[in-house]
Amino acid sequence: MPTYQYACTACNHEFETFQSFTEDSLTECPECKGEVKKVYSAVGVVFKGSGFYKTDSAKSSTASVPAATPAPSTPPPAASTKSD
Ligand SMILES: [Zn+2]
Repeated sequence: MPTYQYACTACNHEFETFQSFTEDSLTECPECKGEVKKVYSAVGVVFKGSGFYKTDSAKSSTASVPAATPAPSTPPPAASTKSD
């Protein structure tokens, strides 16, 4: 059950209430019957994680591409030592 936080625009009374998604949001302050507005706290931003799944699937698809193995190149011979 999600918790919704409200703040009264009339008396600044803040309160939290448990509501299901199907329930109508409150519009009336229990203290002064004034108009209340929903306050979105940081707790409600949990649904932001959907982007992770997108990145994850893209990552796994690229991982299936076989890595090209370049032929081992023979290093140039060491510089010839100058002999006088
Ligand atoms: Zn109020």
